[in-house]
Amino acid sequence: VKTSGKMNYRFFDREYYETIRAKIDRNAELRHALDTDQLIMYYQPRIDVLTGETCSLEALVRWAHPTRGLLEPIDFIPLAEETGLIVELGEVVIDKVCAQMAHWSRQGRHVVPVSINVSPRQFNESDVTEVLRKALTRHGIAPELVEIELTESSMTADNVHVSESLEDMQQLGIALAVDDFGTGYSSLSQLQRLDFDVLKVDKAFTAELEKTKEGSVFFTAIITMAHALGMRVVAEGVETAGQARQLKQLDCDELQGYFISMPLPATETQPILARCVL
Ligand code: C2E
Ligand code: CA
Ligand code: CA
Ligand code: CA
Repeated sequence: VKTSGKMNYRFFDREYYETIRAKIDRNAELRHALDTDQLIMYYQPRIDVLTGETCSLEALVRWAHPTRGLLEPIDFIPLAEETGLIVELGEVVIDKVCAQMAHWSRQGRHVVPVSINVSPRQFNESDVTEVLRKALTRHGIAPELVEIELTESSMTADNVHVSESLEDMQQLGIALAVDDFGTGYSSLSQLQRLDFDVLKVDKAFTAELEKTKEGSVFFTAIITMAHALGMRVVAEGVETAGQARQLKQLDCDELQGYFISMPLPATETQPILARCVL
C-alpha cells in the first residue's frame, strides 16, 4: 500500500503525542499518589546460611492504587525515574522505612537492618545522604541499621555525585550493597575502591544453578573474590531447596528469594523471625 509522506507523518505524530499524553497522565496520577500517601512498603527477608535466621530485610515499594489494586514497582518506578518523581518517591520511601523501624522498636521487637533501593537520579538531583541522615535522626534509628542498594549499572557512568555520596554514607555508618551484580560492567576493583559491604548476585545467576554444570562457576568465582575483598555475598531469586543447598555448599553468605519468603507487608513480617532449615 502506497501512502503519502504526509499521512505517515501525521500518523506517527499522533502516536507520539498519545504516548507523551499517557505519560503525563500517569505522572500526574503518581504525583497525586505521593500527595495522598498511597505508597506502602513490603519487606523481604534475607537469611544467613549459617544460622538460617533473618539477618536483614529489603524494603520494596508498592502502590496501593485506589482502583487498580496493589501495583508493583515495574508499573511506576521506570516512569518515576524518567520524569524525576523518583527523587521525591525515594525520600518518601526512606521516611517510611525509618518510621517502620521505629515502630517495630517501640513494639519491643528485635530490629534487623533494612536495605533501601536508591536510584541514580536521587544522587544527582538531591543530597540523598542528607535525606537519610535527617530521617534517621527524626525517627531515632542507628545508621548501622540501614543499608543502601545501588544497582551495578548506576555506577558505570563513573558518576562523581555517586562516589562522593557513597563516601558520605559510609562516614555516617550506613552499609552499601551492589544490587543485580553480574548484569552491569563494574569491575571488582571498582567495588573494592568504593568499599561496598555486600554483593547481591542477580537472580539470573541463581536460576542457572540447577540448569547446567557450569551454573555454579560464576558463583564460585564471585564468592572467592568477594570474600578476599571483605564483602558478603547474597544470592537473589532463590526459588528452590536445591539452589539453597548448592549456594550453601558454595559458601554464599546470605539467601533471598521466594523459597525463603515472599516480600511481605510490615504487619506480616514475624516478630521473631522464622528459621529456615537448609
Ligand atoms: P530488586 O531491587 O532487584 O528487588 C528484587 C525483586 O525481585 C523484587 O521485585 C522482588 O519481589 C523480586 N523477587 C524476590 N524474590 C524473588 C524470587 O525468588 N524470584 C523472582 N523471580 N523474583 C523475586 P519488586 O518488588 O517487583 O521490585 C522490582 C524492582 O523495583 C526492584 O528490583 C528495584 O530495582 C525496584 N524497586 C523496588 N522498590 C524500590 C524503591 O523503594 N526504590 C527504588 N528506587 N526502586 C525500587
Ligand atoms: Ca534491590
Ligand atoms: Ca536485585
Ligand atoms: Ca569492606
